[in-house]
Amino acid sequence: MVKSGLTTGSGGNLSIFNRSEGLIAITPSGVEYQELTPENIILMDIQGNVCLSNDSDNTAKLKPSSESGFHTALYQQRADINAIVHTHSPYATTFACLNREIPPVHYLVAFAGIKVPVAPYATFGTQQLADNIVVTIKDYNAILLANHGLVAVGNNMPQAFNIAEEIEFVARICYQAESIGRPVLLPDNEMKKVIEKFKNYGSGKN
Ligand code: 13P
Ligand code: ZN
Repeated sequence: MVKSGLTTGSGGNLSIFNRSEGLIAITPSGVEYQELTPENIILMDIQGNVCLSNDSDNTAKLKPSSESGFHTALYQQRADINAIVHTHSPYATTFACLNREIPPVHYLVAFAGIKVPVAPYATFGTQQLADNIVVTIKDYNAILLANHGLVAVGNNMPQAFNIAEEIEFVARICYQAESIGRPVLLPDNEMKKVIEKFKNYGSGKN
């Protein structure tokens, strides 16, 4: 997260869901990424109840991410989601602070959908924020959180992480393009074509 420029300090959080075991592995609240160890990762069930995997002193003292409510809500909302990356990446967050969607300024916005929508603002770590995210996510794979950051979802962690990186790139391009001119946006039918092509992209079938 830090090396990829997606966040600073302990901002943002990540989780994966093993559906057959019914267990979510999530980052602890307020721990800097450089200090994280595998033992610090919290295991919890889909209701958010912590299931400690070991009884080390260190693990017992840590709490799951303050955003565990929206992670569990997203896993319940969409059966295709098994990994979630929440970032405070600077360009995506710039759009989030303007409460502005990221438009299809570059075809790579298809990693999220036909655009990147914005979930209305609510205080971090609240049920209201989880509700706003669930209402906004629909079939998108990335959404902005107003005045806060970005959430990317995927079948697995490499996919969710890659989506977070690609949308940060698109947000930066949009910012740069708007700073020297008026970007030409791709129409919805072209974005739908790209979304279809992405289904086989990297599989050797495209
Ligand atoms: P946590 O450290 O509790 O995961 O919080 C970071 C964050 O990004 C809150 O939105
Ligand atoms: Zn956050």
